[in-house]
Amino acid sequence: MHQNAQRRRITFLFPIYNEEENIALLHSTVDHVIEPLADRYDFDFLYVDDGSRDGSLATLTELAERDARVTVIELARNFGHQLAVTAGLDLADADAVIIMDSDLQDPPRVALELIERWEQGYDVVYAQRRSRQDSAFKKLTAGVFYQVLRKLASVDIPKNTGDFRLIDRKVVDELRKYRERDRFLRGLVAYIGFKQTAVLFDRDKRHAGVTGYPLRKMLRFAADGILGFSVAPLRMITRLGHLISLLSFVGILYVAGVKLFAPETAVPGWAFMTIAMFFLGGIQIVMLGVLGSYVGRTYSQVQNRPLYGVASVRTGTLAAAETGSAAR
Ligand code: UDP
Ligand code: MG
Repeated sequence: MHQNAQRRRITFLFPIYNEEENIALLHSTVDHVIEPLADRYDFDFLYVDDGSRDGSLATLTELAERDARVTVIELARNFGHQLAVTAGLDLADADAVIIMDSDLQDPPRVALELIERWEQGYDVVYAQRRSRQDSAFKKLTAGVFYQVLRKLASVDIPKNTGDFRLIDRKVVDELRKYRERDRFLRGLVAYIGFKQTAVLFDRDKRHAGVTGYPLRKMLRFAADGILGFSVAPLRMITRLGHLISLLSFVGILYVAGVKLFAPETAVPGWAFMTIAMFFLGGIQIVMLGVLGSYVGRTYSQVQNRPLYGVASVRTGTLAAAETGSAAR
């Protein structure tokens, strides 16, 4: 059972969407980088073809024929990056999985640092961008997104961090229990806990091909992050309701004042109409807020996340012996 006694297995997980021109270089670079570690670990490569429309699948099939460490999963259609990674995590069978983009934006040599930190006892080692070579637009939108997410999210999701990371088997097993559809993996990993740490790196340019994340997908992804980890938008309704009710109350006092002290300035029926309008407006938004709080609870119930995760159980020797005999 002693971990050091046996070789540990590490799987590289690559989501692939139209990466025909990157696959060969990606594979050879990663292979080259891990060569010095080959005597200590068993490595394998899991390529998930996410319904590519170019020759990616053919290239991958060829690669698998040449290299026995390669497994290729062909998804039935394009399900999106997050689901492609999920499919890989569901099928991986290793002591640790390293998730990496396939366009060489995540420099393979950083994987060595991830493994080093893992050996120091961390369960999740995420690669955090010190700098990135992307368009000004992408940098700006990403910056705003992480800012907003940090403000709103109920868990501490590290900023400037993609899915490039090493995840220990324990955390992969935990992650598999999370079956929500609209997933924001980096949020889920943060939510799960265990011992996590960061390694800083400089993100490169995409080697070849075009981004699989056009603006439409990026917005959707941002919404998944915010809506998946925060009910702040719903809480805003309640706050707004209270604010409007307060204003309505002031309005009602004003109308009543006019009616009592300066009735000649008011049109007949005005007081009734205005008070009714203020009153209803306030009540309606407060009630929307009440509905919102139930919707929020229903939402988190429907997400059906595990209630907690256990990192370890420590007992005395006596209790351990008892559990042992009970198990038999
Ligand atoms: N990807 C995927 N399915 C998609 C879009 C992207 O599997 O629908 C993969 C893609 O092949 C790459 C990773 O997800 O390995 C990140 O995508 P990309 O580089 O296009 O995103 P960007 O770096 O521009 O944000
Ligand atoms: Mg990229």
